[in-house]
Order: sequence, then C-alpha cells, then structure tokens
Amino acid sequence: MNLIALPAFEDNYLWLLHDGQRALVVDPGDAAPVQEALGRLGLRLHGILVTHHHGDHTGGVAALREATGAVVYGPATERIPAPYQALRGGQTVNVLGIDWQVIDVPGHTAGHIAYFAAAVDGVPLLFCGDTLFSGGCGRIFEGTPAQMLASLGALAALPPATRVCCAHEYTLSNLRFAQAVEPGNAELIGYTRRCQALREQNRPTLPSTIGTERAINPFLRSRQPAIAKAVRAHAPSANDEVAVFAALREWKNTFR
Ligand code: ZN
Ligand code: FE
Repeated sequence: MNLIALPAFEDNYLWLLHDGQRALVVDPGDAAPVQEALGRLGLRLHGILVTHHHGDHTGGVAALREATGAVVYGPATERIPAPYQALRGGQTVNVLGIDWQVIDVPGHTAGHIAYFAAAVDGVPLLFCGDTLFSGGCGRIFEGTPAQMLASLGALAALPPATRVCCAHEYTLSNLRFAQAVEPGNAELIGYTRRCQALREQNRPTLPSTIGTERAINPFLRSRQPAIAKAVRAHAPSANDEVAVFAALREWKNTFR
C-alpha cells in the first residue's frame, strides 16, 4: 500500500492510500488534486472517508463520487454530502480490503470520527482529521474540553507505532507553542529540528506516530506535572485535569 499526502488549499493534506490500482481518499476538500493524482497514477477511486463536516474536508466529495462512483463514508450525526454510509464509533468498515475501525472523537465538531486500521502492511494507521495534529490538536468549535480530552485520550491509547495522518500541516507552529509550554522536553527539541529540516525541503512532517505525539504533544501530556504547572501560571484557577486542558487550549488560541 502507498500512502500519499496531497497538498490542498493553504495547509491541508488530502490523504490518498492505494495499492497501484485501487485507492481511497480521506477528507477531499478539493476534488482537483485527487483527480490529478488518480489520473497520473492510473488509479480507480473506491472509497472516500470523511471525518467531519467542515468544507475543507468535504468540498470535493460530490464531484469525486460523481466522477468515480466511489462509496462515501462519514459520521452519522453530521451533514455530509449525501448519499453516504453513516458511521458511528465502534463500527468497522472494509475499504480496499482493510478493516477500518470507527472511533468517536467529538470536540472539534460534535460528530467528528477517526478511522483506525490495526495493520496496513503490518503497521497501524490512523486518519484523525482535525482532532489530533502533530504537536497540537484541533480547536474546540462544537464540543467541550472534556470531550476533546477524552477523544485525544482514545487516540493516545492506540499502539505507539500507529502512523498518524492529520489533515493539516500545522506542525511547526504547534511545536513553537509546545516549546513554550514544556521547554525542558529534550525529545520535543530534537523532533522540532527534524520537522524544520523537512519543511525547509518543502516535505510534509506527517505522518507522525502515536509514540512521538505521546512524547512531544502538550495536548496528550496535560496531566504531566510540568505542563499542569506551566498552565497554572497562566490560569491559576485551573485545578482539575479538564480545567488544565481547557486552559492549555485557551492559551494556544492566543499564543503568538
Ligand atoms: Zn475542521
Ligand atoms: Fe480542517
């Protein structure tokens, strides 16, 4: 299986997975780069996996379905271009011969889902939309901080080798914030250097891995004493884990 990040808009990635003949795409906000890749690589599109309803994740769905006949999958409780197969957490769907477990990850949007495969060529793979980013997490638009904390916890519990395919290249700006939160994290410093080198060559920093994110991402580490302490310096009244997480997310929203 080949995994490709197709750049779109300012900083989106449309993830394409293919076996040389058949492909699936995740969150095609724009049909054009997907059509270009399908043509160039000689692929037939079989499935479209959608994580949530935002336009930069759904804008190309209808055009791609009409052009290719691909089956569209998406969250049951959100408005996704119909017809599509409505999915809920706990369900499994088979696309390209791979079983994809659906995980409910509310927070960025109320019905956001993620897709996890235990083994693609022997390695676990996650498409997590705008829930988990490398070094960061999505803004909480429709859900609550408690929901987002639980959603990130569910993703952090996946195997450390899991490749994490996020929908945006936000890594360097996330890592600037992460270093402000946790300046003493040596793994974070090394990871930042590697990501800077990739971006200087205009290459994606993604996919990341769950193991890496557990080591460097403050939003998966908000229970660490050093992080809770740094957060309380900004928000002294944050005295339980949800309040610390909420204050960390607020701090990021205003960080420059
Ligand atoms: Zn979004
Ligand atoms: Fe997005």
